[in-house]
Amino acid sequence: MYSKIPHYHVFPYLVICVLAGISVAQFDNLPLSFRQTLPWMPYALGIITSLLALQFNRRRLLVFVGLVASAYWGVFSFLQQPIANAQAFSVFTILSLILPSNLLLNLLLKDNGMRSKSAYVSYLVLALQVALIYIASLIAHPDALGSLQELFATRPVPGIVMSAMALAWCTLLLASLFFSCIYKPDIVRLGYFFGSLLCILALVFLDRVGITALFFSAAMFCVLISSFSSTYDLAYRDDLTGLQARRALNERLGGLSKGYVLAMADIDHFKGFNDKYGHDVGDDVLAMVAAKLDQVNGRAEVFRYGGEEFTLVFTNTDMNEAKQHLDEVRQLISSSAFAIRDSKTRDQGSQKQRTADKKPKKTVQITVSIGYAQHTSDVEHYDEVIKLADNALYKAKKKGRDCVVAASS
Ligand code: GH3
Ligand code: MG
Ligand code: MG
Repeated sequence: MYSKIPHYHVFPYLVICVLAGISVAQFDNLPLSFRQTLPWMPYALGIITSLLALQFNRRRLLVFVGLVASAYWGVFSFLQQPIANAQAFSVFTILSLILPSNLLLNLLLKDNGMRSKSAYVSYLVLALQVALIYIASLIAHPDALGSLQELFATRPVPGIVMSAMALAWCTLLLASLFFSCIYKPDIVRLGYFFGSLLCILALVFLDRVGITALFFSAAMFCVLISSFSSTYDLAYRDDLTGLQARRALNERLGGLSKGYVLAMADIDHFKGFNDKYGHDVGDDVLAMVAAKLDQVNGRAEVFRYGGEEFTLVFTNTDMNEAKQHLDEVRQLISSSAFAIRDSKTRDQGSQKQRTADKKPKKTVQITVSIGYAQHTSDVEHYDEVIKLADNALYKAKKKGRDCVVAASS
């Protein structure tokens, strides 16, 4: 269910793109040793990324590397000559059509391991790309190309090498990749989009010195980063609610100095709710409550502590301010009508039908109880702050629930 991508996730990719662009513009000023090793960099990064993909059973990542590396091999082996030559023209035309198409296809195919049906299709696509590049390289005479030379005439405008037709095709495919990121936002897709964008830009501006090696390396780097951050996310983010998980909370608290305020929030009578509406509806409501808690003011960080318990950490507020923010979010939750599908109809029909059925069947009221405490100088370890907040939460439950109680009261 987790689908949020925090906006800051985009920044590393933007930085990579800008740095790659600057490096191309300033290519002659780059250190000589860097320029000498550059041609091998896409392969080196490709090997590292492939090893990671194999380790984590990421078929899509592995095939991305294969597609990009084989395209780079095509550029490196056959395009170091004037593009007007028959061999260069045919390889370039094939590359500018097939690479973006295959990158999109690879993204659309399911990533369910290295030995699934979609995995074998993607390997076939990769093999086909290599074969086509090689076959295109065998064309040595302009007569063999016929009217293709007019249809895919390179350099439609000064500075751009890619033909207008191929450019239109690439734009369409990039737009599809972009919308797939919007429709199904996740960290891996984001890296994949920027990686594909860089590869296509390298082909568009092919005659800029160093652009293929730099942009293809940057593309490998994008997917490498996205792969690392998705692995990090698996460990540190809760899949159901999209909030940070307990492990992230422990690390955060371990790094904080005293003075922060910590609150424990627990959904009231949730066991009864599950019994009445079913566990799946309970999951939906849990995610909705998490989203409301995440709207808390005071720049608090919100974590899923476990089960139906959440932790809020205020680093820049005192107890009084925290109480105010906590009471606001408690009221926000108790005054919200949570739309649910009832348990009988929720599981009927395909996932697609259920998603299409936007009409909520019913609304329910949910309340939370909150206890909070401050990490003062009397407290040694953050575990004790959690315990203090937990005790206050217990008091809030005793008090009748749907309220906020401080540890000292
Ligand atoms: P109280 O007001 O005292 O907190 O009552 P409660 O029923 O919420 O408290 P209790 O701790 O007895 O029950 C917590 C319930 O939360 C038990 C379990 O059914 C439910 N729960 C915990 N984690 C999940 C989850 O991930 N999904 C769903 N649907 N339910 C969960
Ligand atoms: Mg509980
Ligand atoms: Mg509860």
